Amino acid sequence: MKTHLALISIGLLLPTLAAELQPTAEQQKQLTPKGVLEELMAGNVRYASGKVADPNILARVELAAKGQYPKAYILSCVDSRVPVELVFDQGIGDLFVGRVAGNIESTEQLGSIEFATKVAGAKLVMVLGHEACGAVKGACDHVELGNLTHLLKEIKPAVDAVQGHKDRSSKNSAFVEDVIEKNVRLTVEDLRKRSAVLAELEKSGAIQIVGAVYSLHDGKVRLLN
Ligand SMILES: [Zn+2]
Repeated sequence: MKTHLALISIGLLLPTLAAELQPTAEQQKQLTPKGVLEELMAGNVRYASGKVADPNILARVELAAKGQYPKAYILSCVDSRVPVELVFDQGIGDLFVGRVAGNIESTEQLGSIEFATKVAGAKLVMVLGHEACGAVKGACDHVELGNLTHLLKEIKPAVDAVQGHKDRSSKNSAFVEDVIEKNVRLTVEDLRKRSAVLAELEKSGAIQIVGAVYSLHDGKVRLLN
């Protein structure tokens, strides 16, 4: 009975909390790609300084059941040390997150991003690589293992594109970091090349596609220009 009463009181509170907690379709429309990027980077500053906002989990679970109007799509690696929503201090309903080792664009990711932007109204697409990425290290070392072999092949163009290093193995962390950045840049380019939908949305100013790298050491996200 107590639980039931608690749920009723949360329900009564929802109308007043709704505006602050989760944007409506109308509010999502007012967002700009630039504004969303600024908001995410400000969230990362809060995260990296340990001063995150209250995630309001219970109230947001309740609100999320009514619909979603997320502001961005983050294409991230699967690495357990990159908790995407936390990294940007975002909550339930704020982000679409696509995760695949090495943050590469598969056809399935492309379709998901097209849905998130063209259909569901997200304003920003961010390809988020990270420091010391195991998938990138595997590609540098030409690792072969089951289906992973195919996945790592997708990262090879970035490995080949990075020059100026004598030691081209994962033992050379400077080489690995250069490949991580190159891999993000190539993925951003590929999103535009492989998706006419995304290229058109970006050209019209409806969305922005950006690349960034996350530091495992200080939790900061660095935007790539
Ligand atoms: Zn990784």
